[in-house]
Amino acid sequence: MQVLRHWCCIVLLTNYPLKSDAERKSLRKGMRTQRAKAIDPIPIDDYLTKMPPEILQQILLKVITEDGDVAFLRLSLTSRIYKEIVSDAKFREQAHYIWLDSVINWSRFSEDYKKEFRVPCSLTECPKCGDIFKDCPPGYVGDGRKGVLRGFYSTIDFPGYCLAECHFNAGGEFPYENV
Ligand SMILES: [Zn+2]
Repeated sequence: MQVLRHWCCIVLLTNYPLKSDAERKSLRKGMRTQRAKAIDPIPIDDYLTKMPPEILQQILLKVITEDGDVAFLRLSLTSRIYKEIVSDAKFREQAHYIWLDSVINWSRFSEDYKKEFRVPCSLTECPKCGDIFKDCPPGYVGDGRKGVLRGFYSTIDFPGYCLAECHFNAGGEFPYENV
């Protein structure tokens, strides 16, 4: 039995040599670092940067279509990546056409009408009520939410205001009095 025990020790020592203090220390450190990495959550921006930009754009377009133009500001404040996407002129134009097509049935109008009024726009803050609205002469106004259309605007009637009401409340006059 003693011989067997002796043989076992020799086999163990040959196959698993004793590690030096420095080796054991670095091994422990390595294990600690690995554990810390496993616990640390991946920062949220990492998910976003790994996501194909086209997919992220489609998701944000959906958010803007549902929530309206106010979502541009909210998304800009949410993340640097969102801000880059929603600030892009092409993205804004795309969002605008999705909105316009959702509130107007173009098939009811002539091609000439569509050509004249299915045009790009800019987002303007109404100086009276502070609402952000689509300011795109010639065309339509609205707050960019699906199904919400404030009606036809006119640059002569109330330029820079979201509604005629805001224009008059701010001291504006009837357009035909100025003509
Ligand atoms: Zn207003």
